[in-house]
Amino acid sequence: MRIIDHFIAGGTAGLDQARRSAIYDPNTGAVQAEVVLGGAAALERAVAAAEAAQPAWAATNPQRRARVLFRFKELVEAHMTELAHLLSSEHGKVIADSRGDIQRGLEVVEFACGIPHAQKGEYTDGAGPGIDVYSMRQPVGIGAGITPFNFPAMIPLWMGAVAVATGNAFICKPSERDPSVPLRLAELFLEAGLPAGIFQVVHGDKEMVDAILDHPAIGAVSFVGSSDIANYVYQRGAAAGKRVQAMGGAKNHGIVLPDADLDQVVNDLLGAAFGSAGERCMALPVVVPVGDETAERLKAKLIPAIEALKVGISTDPEAHYGPVVTAQAKAKIEAWIARAAEEGAELVIDGRGFALQGYEQGFFVGPTLIDHVTDTMDSYHNEIFGPVLQIVRAKTFDEAVALPSKHQYGNGVALFTRNGHAAREFARRVNVGMVGINVPIPVPVAYHSFGGWKRSAFGDTNQHGMEGVKFWTKVKTITQRWPDGSVDGGNAFVIPTMG
Ligand code: NAD
Repeated sequence: MRIIDHFIAGGTAGLDQARRSAIYDPNTGAVQAEVVLGGAAALERAVAAAEAAQPAWAATNPQRRARVLFRFKELVEAHMTELAHLLSSEHGKVIADSRGDIQRGLEVVEFACGIPHAQKGEYTDGAGPGIDVYSMRQPVGIGAGITPFNFPAMIPLWMGAVAVATGNAFICKPSERDPSVPLRLAELFLEAGLPAGIFQVVHGDKEMVDAILDHPAIGAVSFVGSSDIANYVYQRGAAAGKRVQAMGGAKNHGIVLPDADLDQVVNDLLGAAFGSAGERCMALPVVVPVGDETAERLKAKLIPAIEALKVGISTDPEAHYGPVVTAQAKAKIEAWIARAAEEGAELVIDGRGFALQGYEQGFFVGPTLIDHVTDTMDSYHNEIFGPVLQIVRAKTFDEAVALPSKHQYGNGVALFTRNGHAAREFARRVNVGMVGINVPIPVPVAYHSFGGWKRSAFGDTNQHGMEGVKFWTKVKTITQRWPDGSVDGGNAFVIPTMG
């Protein structure tokens, strides 16, 4: 059995490997490898390597740091096919989605290549007599990133690219379900010229996460995953005095106004609800048509389009989506479908019990459409995280805006309309962090920042863009004067407020 080890100080760790977790091939259901589950001992090694390497890396001028990121970007591009296949083999998403996952991560690397500009401080000349004030952004020191299974390339790079660009050492704790891509990224960083100890990978479960949260040398923790764990990470990390940003779950709504182009909406929904088997925090698993007439027209178009979706293995170029990540994920999704039916919703297309010929043990779930879902149902309030689209009918625009606004999650939302005024009102009023207007998956580009509201994010700094630079740096402000007796006021010190 292949064993996946930590990547510490530029190589494999070779520590105690007694605790391990299975890595499946979601297409076949077979175990393909095991990842070691580490704890305090492995983390201690990684922290020691980070402490040894970080001061020199922070002292490296930002242009040289950026050059390493440029080389890394080129290496990832050169290895794109290999990485995409590796990603699909553990996650189950189709190759095109894996390429997208890597590409979105690379866009953050491109942003981070501009770090000489992005990390510049501010300067005020003459804040008082002979007094200048300037600020600099210094790295936090050692940061950690705890990442989910669903974007094993993009999310480690959201965090890691900005963390290392700003002069930190970064320790990634990837999902124990698909840890191989972050590991390859660590190797490619080393090949690109990043010093050993600056981008490391430690594997594990709660034990490793707790070791990270309690370690006094780690100054910042970035987390992405489900909300209860995000909240736990936020509370425990903050209590230990760390800077913490913790992104959680989602249940994004797509509001469809009567004037929307329904063919475009259906096309967008197929990708947004079923792409990557719905295992995206920016998927659109809830559609809210406004008015029964809109709902009926939309449903009539959705049914044949969903029935035509092709579910296949992750390397099938014709497949719209592949298996979900584990047997547990499949069972959980199917349980939510059953719950929706028990709650009185209408199962229009039921994807339970789906088996792909020749891959009967794979973790496949058929596309599912559920109508007449209401805001009193558990299956509406909770994240299903599978290829399931729920229709919640609203009578009015106001009712439609209220649904995502009152929902416990507030990650993304989309509005489909041709009416500019309605769109503007919607964007201003809706209580959600990322809004798409005729854009089904409004993931902000890398130089803006990513972050939801309510139980979709704990802490107050978003991922990547300038928010990321802020998270991974501390501001130091210097007030200076060089008295020589010749300037106004001579050697007498006058504080700026009195100047
Ligand atoms: P998860 O919460 O199960 O795991 C995330 C990380 O937490 C993993 O590294 C895991 O090892 C660790 N972990 C798991 N159990 C833990 C525990 N008890 N204590 C401490 N750490 C623990 O999430 P997942 O299933 O890997 O990912 C899917 C979830 O992530 C979904 O809820 C999805 O919406 C969310 N997500 C959110 C965003 C966002 O930006 N808001 C992006 C992607 C995914």
